[in-house]
Amino acid sequence: MSYKAEYIWVDGTEPTAKLRSKTRILADGAELPDWGFDGSSTNQAPGDNSDCVLKPVLAVPDPIRGGENKLVLCEVFHVDGTPHPTNNRAKLRPIAEQYAAHDAWFGIEQEYTFFQAGRPLGFPETGFPAPQGPYYCGVGADEVFGRDIVERHLDACLDAGIKVSGINAEVMPGQWEFQIGPAGPIEVADHLWLARWLLYRIAEDFGVAATLDPKPAKGDWNGAGAHTNFSTKAMRESYDAIITACEALGAEGKVEEHIAGYGPGIQERLTGQHETAPWNVYSYGVSDRGASVRIPWQVQVDKKGYIEDRRPNANIDPYNVTRLLVNTCCEALEK
Ligand code: ADP
Ligand code: MN
Ligand code: MN
Ligand code: MN
Ligand code: MN
Repeated sequence: MSYKAEYIWVDGTEPTAKLRSKTRILADGAELPDWGFDGSSTNQAPGDNSDCVLKPVLAVPDPIRGGENKLVLCEVFHVDGTPHPTNNRAKLRPIAEQYAAHDAWFGIEQEYTFFQAGRPLGFPETGFPAPQGPYYCGVGADEVFGRDIVERHLDACLDAGIKVSGINAEVMPGQWEFQIGPAGPIEVADHLWLARWLLYRIAEDFGVAATLDPKPAKGDWNGAGAHTNFSTKAMRESYDAIITACEALGAEGKVEEHIAGYGPGIQERLTGQHETAPWNVYSYGVSDRGASVRIPWQVQVDKKGYIEDRRPNANIDPYNVTRLLVNTCCEALEK
């Protein structure tokens, strides 16, 4: 007997990386072998030296094919065994290990937008729908578009053992969010990439494309973000640690470093409008959805908990975001 292993990896598409996958038939009980692919077709290698290597890092039950079949998340390497430059997971591994004692947790809110026939799902053929207001967490056929896809995606994530913590309809028709976490810096990012793959795969069956475009509709519409909730053991125990982390993120050089790793096109989304802070002016505040970093109201009351970095774009590579947050905040907490 045999099973199907769907090998999934992050490609080299610019500016926003996409997912690729292909199927391998394996004998029952067989280990997951390394595999290769044509990097010249994924913007990861030149045609005359095209082989790239896939190394499995996480296997979960395949909720679409069912049975013994698996989804297999991989890192990409050169044939000489060095990590490919697009392999941001490899850059995160040493940082996650260095600060492992801080026990960092992340909850990432992945916003995304369904598209069909070249426009957001629920947008009329010409012109625009009624303005923002009723859609967020809405109910009813006049306000919510794509719920059947969203429900199937949620069930698939749960069946695969992905740490999904919730879903909600967002402020624009066709725009939705799911949350992954809380989980550690590598795990939350692995689970987020697998959840994205399942979203694309399931929407495909409905003839719908899901996009992480941070500004999917021009004009007076919210962009799409990936708010990143973050805590360490110290932050879950003291308010001083919360403030230390908030201050560290605003330190000289850190604002630019984080913005550069928080997703392509971030300057167009972080304008100061639509529940964002301008990308080049760092701020933090309690309950403030117009700040770069929000301290939830309950955290101020409890005097411990977590912070929400509201800056990351929907199209982040989460391995970059968790690496930056762990590196900046844990370094400051050790001082
Ligand atoms: P919002 O109110 O901003 O919409 P959400 O409910 O969408 O927030 O997401 C909050 C996320 O924060 C969830 O994924 C949740 O698991 C995560 N979270 C909760 N507590 C912590 C914590 N202590 N550290 C990190 N993440 C946390
Ligand atoms: Mn071929
Ligand atoms: Mn949310
Ligand atoms: Mn949201
Ligand atoms: Mn949020």
